[in-house]
Amino acid sequence: MSDWEADSDEDGPHGASTKPPPTLPAWRPAAAPPPPRARGNPDAGEDREESGGGKNWGSRPASAREPWQSRPLEYRARGSSRGEDRERAPLCFPLDNALVGTLIGRGGTKIKELEESSGCKIQVVKGNCEAMIKIFGGNDKQTKAKMLIDDLIERSSQGNAGERYTKDSFKHPDVGTICYHDSSFGGLKSGYSSPKQSINWASLRENKAKYEAMKWADLPPIEKQFYRESPKIASMSQEEADKWRKENNNITCNDLKDGEKRHIPNPICKFEDAFEYYCDVMENIRKVGFQKPTPIQSQAWPIILQGYDLIGIAQTGTGKTLAYLMPGFIHLDLQPIPREKRSGPGMLVLTPTRELALQVEAECSKYSYKGFKSICIYGGGDRHGQISLVNKGVDIVIATPGRLNDLQMNNYINLRSITYLVLDEADRMLDMGFEPQIMKILLDVRPDRQTVMTSATWPDGVRRLAKSYLKDPMIVYVGTLDLAAVSTVEQKIVIIPEEEKRAFTRYFIDTMKSEDKVIIFVGKKLTADDLSSDFGLQGIPVQSLHGNREQCDREQALEDFKKGRVRILIATDLASRGLDVQDITHVFNFDFPRNIEEYVHRVGRTGRAGRTGEAVTLVTRNDWRIASELIDILERGNQVIPEELISMAERYKQFQLKKEMERDLGRPRGRSRKGF
Ligand code: AMP
Repeated sequence: MSDWEADSDEDGPHGASTKPPPTLPAWRPAAAPPPPRARGNPDAGEDREESGGGKNWGSRPASAREPWQSRPLEYRARGSSRGEDRERAPLCFPLDNALVGTLIGRGGTKIKELEESSGCKIQVVKGNCEAMIKIFGGNDKQTKAKMLIDDLIERSSQGNAGERYTKDSFKHPDVGTICYHDSSFGGLKSGYSSPKQSINWASLRENKAKYEAMKWADLPPIEKQFYRESPKIASMSQEEADKWRKENNNITCNDLKDGEKRHIPNPICKFEDAFEYYCDVMENIRKVGFQKPTPIQSQAWPIILQGYDLIGIAQTGTGKTLAYLMPGFIHLDLQPIPREKRSGPGMLVLTPTRELALQVEAECSKYSYKGFKSICIYGGGDRHGQISLVNKGVDIVIATPGRLNDLQMNNYINLRSITYLVLDEADRMLDMGFEPQIMKILLDVRPDRQTVMTSATWPDGVRRLAKSYLKDPMIVYVGTLDLAAVSTVEQKIVIIPEEEKRAFTRYFIDTMKSEDKVIIFVGKKLTADDLSSDFGLQGIPVQSLHGNREQCDREQALEDFKKGRVRILIATDLASRGLDVQDITHVFNFDFPRNIEEYVHRVGRTGRAGRTGEAVTLVTRNDWRIASELIDILERGNQVIPEELISMAERYKQFQLKKEMERDLGRPRGRSRKGF
């Protein structure tokens, strides 16, 4: 099976464990069983953590929506002084009145989207049978807007054979096809009269390719190959390389290029094998005192340094940040155009959350490589401060997609100079709904860049993203690809009635040792606030982390937890991925997460950097849907599976079967008892 395809649902190597149950804190639940509940949880989802992407997408600042309205002309034309996208006369072309609706969309949504995507203002001047479309903005942006309109009309016209879109009857002043510039704006030619013709799609496609070529024509050359394989690594046989990979977290690699496969570089064993010729990198590594490369670094470095695109399937905590940062530094430093002559930053790291962006930035700033300057751009941070730092000139941008897209659309940042791109935790970015912003951002990043993508999982959405934005990548998996929870974590499941969860949590806290550190995961922001104020009132020092807290409070909470000023962090799934706090001894799932992937990520917050950890998960009757998937994970991790969980899964299966039968028989469904 190709790596681009979905995995089969193979079982893990381990069967259910026969080892004795782990010693849970002695807990006596109330004797009386809880009353049966109505189906479904009336509160579920009400206050669930919202996706950052969705939120940003829906509620962007007014300045982001209409850049031309809020900015004086000379500011818009800022790029001209740097030889960038200059403000110019509007690009005009006629459009059949019948197609104007397609362009504008219901309630003007389509045209707004086009304006946002291109950064241009688009004006529609309706005539008797044709409208004049005017695109205002810089040259590149006009071209981009025109391409987007062409695409939109083309898509809507397919299946509408009689459509009379007349775009191929005009000439673009720059690329030899389409459009006029309006004289009233000092443009090339005024007026239009379009003989209506049939559409030549082949020529449109050709023109599109021409636009693309033109858009990137003036870019400086790019260099990507910086690897000199050491004789020792070069002399490794295939068997030796495979054995080494197997013994180092079971690394597997593949070449995803179609056709003839390339040789996958042998893994490196020592830092010198990759960086012997880069003494600044070596000096930095000596300074931090790392002993040897982590498995992902061993395999990723030779691949990235050879200039290939890479997909790294690895979790946070495996050293993946350094796996892309170190080759990135070398890449930036050794580009043919010296840094000071480039028009903007060279490296862009996109991350799903503010916390991860700050963490990557902290990691980046640890290594003083040739004085590279990095900046962290994230929503909730000081926008003006970020803009002024960008204007002073930076080499590396670490950003969350929402805020970066905002600055990009408002011409505060030039992404054309990016030659090294990282999509960090791609699966999480998709989960958070960031795909539209990523799409827009990448329209402005040169297509011949080098791209590295990391992800903890490899679902269809991530494969699609990889196929769209990486070129002939190699893929490196560390550990297995299925949802095996971290093997260094003991997972304990406590089946409990909903109303006893708080008391049990208090009991758990009371039994914590002084050196223990725990994240208590909850499903709702409200619960996080509620629990933390409860514990606060009881004199237990806790911090809380969720999306409704101010950014400075979120940073403070994390700082307090990292530094050990508090040993209990109550968090939503905002903290389930990416956070690198190495001395967390326990994960406590007060609420079961939305899905099993999130469970695995939560569990992965402990047992890091070679330590062991413990995850305690409260499961109530409301969670019966996930019982079967949870059993799979526990089996794969060779963990103890409580009998009650097995029978809960069985009951859910029976319930599903009954539902199906009723559906097949066409009978209306009666009320079913839920869970127990
Ligand atoms: P990451 O997976 O990038 O979040 O990294 C987790 C932690 O591992 C970070 O604190 C890194 O500084 C640390 N780290 C990265 N590479 C190494 C290495 N080769 N040896 C030991 N620690 C490392």
